[in-house]
Amino acid sequence: MTKLINIAIFIAVLTAFALTGCKAQQPVEVTDYVMGTVLTQRIYGGNRELADHVTAQIRLLESQISTNIESSDISKISRAAGKSLIETSQIELIELSKEVSEKSHGAFDITVAPITKLWGIGTENARVPSKQEIEAVLPLVGYENIVLKDGKAGLTKQGAALDLGAIGKGAASDLALSLYKEKDITSAVVSVGGSIGLMGRRPDEKSFKIGLRDPFGSANQHIAVLLLEDISVSTSGSYEKYIEKNGIRYHHIIDPFTGYPAQSDLVSVTVIHKSGALCDALSTACFVLGYEKGKELLNEYGAKGIFIDKDKNIYFAGNLDNIFELKQDSGYRVVSR
Ligand code: AMP
Ligand code: MG
Repeated sequence: MTKLINIAIFIAVLTAFALTGCKAQQPVEVTDYVMGTVLTQRIYGGNRELADHVTAQIRLLESQISTNIESSDISKISRAAGKSLIETSQIELIELSKEVSEKSHGAFDITVAPITKLWGIGTENARVPSKQEIEAVLPLVGYENIVLKDGKAGLTKQGAALDLGAIGKGAASDLALSLYKEKDITSAVVSVGGSIGLMGRRPDEKSFKIGLRDPFGSANQHIAVLLLEDISVSTSGSYEKYIEKNGIRYHHIIDPFTGYPAQSDLVSVTVIHKSGALCDALSTACFVLGYEKGKELLNEYGAKGIFIDKDKNIYFAGNLDNIFELKQDSGYRVVSR
């Protein structure tokens, strides 16, 4: 029962949702709770068995990369930091993380774990740590300390640790799409929290419509619609997870250089690219970098982006003509295309 209630709550906090409406072919639609968030699958021409198989495979991925699971490869790598390398099936994901860390000059950094652990935002132990606590662990953060060798991964500094929270959901959506492909599915939508994967088009040949959440509204309010096909999209927003103390809001996206929540004036960044893992990593990176530097990073990857600041200004990276439809009376304005 508690689980069902949790699922209902997390459906309500999805950052974006698919607004498909095709009656021609009834899809199989399944909702589960994985990776601390809601997984929804809509598979046209698929069946329940396939959806359940995908959920099971995503749970397996979670068991390999979660920081909260002691037996995960990621937990093992963190425990062995400064001592030894650990064999893992997730080398490619760690490699991609390291690459985005380098290209974002450390704005995205999976070695931010000692800091995210201190804050605990999104957990029952969330709190505002003291400046001294932050300064004590900050030297442990640095992607340069990640070692990848012969299918093994490790960290050079004892006490260093990994957190794949900013890329894992995108990787899960990629995994779902690859499993649909194996079964010759040509039309599907998968959503893992703020990461959405789209396979093909709707069965009526139209693009999927993805609602862009109002960062200042409730979970089901959207300010724009994205018309997309055969692509992934991921949103990072300061409204997703936060705590408040003495009237100050502390959100979950950390600036690895300061150890405090990133302060770039942005409230959300949405990234569009073929790879879901990349979308997820880049949306977090861009949130930390801000618009100008974020746009440069997206250019390097050929990704598109939608940046929203706290004054309800919208900035584009890449060409979003025919993709982005702002809702009338949204209260937001596009200031840079
Ligand atoms: P996302 O919601 O995809 O932007 O990811 C945020 C999550 O990733 C947080 O809950 C942390 O677990 C982790 N995280 C926070 N800041 C960073 C960062 N700068 N680089 C990498 N991971 C981060
Ligand atoms: Mg992310």
